[in-house]
Amino acid sequence: MPLNDPEYLPLSYLSQTGYCPRRVGLLLNERIWVENADTAKGRKEHESVHTQRIERRGSQVKLFEYAVFSDTLGICGKCDLIEAQADPSGCRIPPVDFPVRLYPVEYKHGKLRDEQEYKMQLCAQAMCLEEMYRTAIPEGAIFYLSSHRRQTVLLDEPLRRLVRETAKELHRIRETLSVPSADYSQKCRRCSLLEYCLPGVRQSARAYCEQLAQEAKEMETI
Ligand code: SF4
Repeated sequence: MPLNDPEYLPLSYLSQTGYCPRRVGLLLNERIWVENADTAKGRKEHESVHTQRIERRGSQVKLFEYAVFSDTLGICGKCDLIEAQADPSGCRIPPVDFPVRLYPVEYKHGKLRDEQEYKMQLCAQAMCLEEMYRTAIPEGAIFYLSSHRRQTVLLDEPLRRLVRETAKELHRIRETLSVPSADYSQKCRRCSLLEYCLPGVRQSARAYCEQLAQEAKEMETI
């Protein structure tokens, strides 16, 4: 699926799109960001583990905060951690000076739970690495910081298809500068944009509020 769009979108927005397309429209096209307890905790925990570094121990090298991209998916971002294990049939990845097998690990705050969006994000990282270093990555893991537990994720074809479809949807939202309509669900209660999004408000009322906000913005620029 080669994309014509030269804009590389943040890899992490794939999981935002999976969570709620409206949320990604607000983040990406309206530049709205609202912090809540969940996002603040996640950011704090992320800051404490995310520093770019390399750790070597015998035949294993750990690459933290490794930059990745995919021309095919039109995305770029970082892998929290890549475990590179020496393997004569593996690939070459800078700055490691011997062939290795790659195993991406994504860090998430909170306790171990089953989140399809996180699996998709991990799979997208693996797909970037496969494209960059012409290798195959059949598996990765999500590490949950609060429970200190790893969840193994099989990077199978259905998950890869979901990544491709979600990347397409993300680019469509960006190209059309659209903000998809709200679809109220359980997820809204945990969403930091709840008060801005107003998913429970009828469409016409929300459109009216959005129009007022737009007019106010235009007045500010006069
Ligand atoms: S409040 Fe609900 S509909 Fe609105 S952006 Fe968040 S998850 Fe999406």
